[in-house]
Amino acid sequence: MEDFIEFQDVLHSRKQISDQNLDPVLEIAKKYSFDFVLKKSEDFLIENSKFSFGKKMELAREFDLKKLKDHLKSLDESENCAISTDSLKCTVCYEIYPGVPMSIQCGHTFCTPCLENLKKTSSANCPICRKIVNFSTAVPNFTLKNVLDSLGELGKNEKGPYENSKDIAIERLQEQNAQLEKEKEKAEDDLRFAETYINEYWSQILSLREQNSRLKHSTARKYTFLFFGVCGLLVILTYQYYQLNLSITKRKCWFF
Ligand SMILES: [Zn+2]
Ligand SMILES: [Zn+2]
Repeated sequence: MEDFIEFQDVLHSRKQISDQNLDPVLEIAKKYSFDFVLKKSEDFLIENSKFSFGKKMELAREFDLKKLKDHLKSLDESENCAISTDSLKCTVCYEIYPGVPMSIQCGHTFCTPCLENLKKTSSANCPICRKIVNFSTAVPNFTLKNVLDSLGELGKNEKGPYENSKDIAIERLQEQNAQLEKEKEKAEDDLRFAETYINEYWSQILSLREQNSRLKHSTARKYTFLFFGVCGLLVILTYQYYQLNLSITKRKCWFF
């Protein structure tokens, strides 16, 4: 119920969208197709939200916010770049600072156990820059502590910067894959089309061949008939000629 009141307040511009009310607002807007509110939430996520990159990506995917997705993808790698863990480690023991890191006068920072050890040694030189310092006047470096804390939170609740890059890479690969699938389907269609054509041509060639051989046979038959016909005619003519000769011989000189 509270969520609905919150949503109505946002809908009628009585309240601004914030990171606190964004989740229920998005859910209700999606459920009841309030595209206007979805668009408003999307703009908020792009411009004002303090949510981490990973959380925004998650929301973009869950609520299918294309503009936000494109915006996140277009962000320069440097904006989401991974912080080198070396800068989060004590330069003496190479461990990620436990507790509050301590800075000495020269500006160099160490973890509390290492600083305690340095205090115990007789040396008064910074182990990094060799400047003469007083280890007892070391002050806590709260800025670095905050950075460590926020990264720790990020690690607990959200995907890390590497995960975000991985997500983007996966997203891009999926898009490329879909594109390739489409091209493959088109190529397969073309292939099927070509195959039908080839089959049609083949059947035409076969029927022409058949026709051709039929014609050859009938021509051969015609010539055979002609040959035997001529032969028969010759036999008849020769017979008639002999018959005629015989009758002439019998009559002796038939024309006198
Ligand atoms: Zn240390
Ligand atoms: Zn130093």
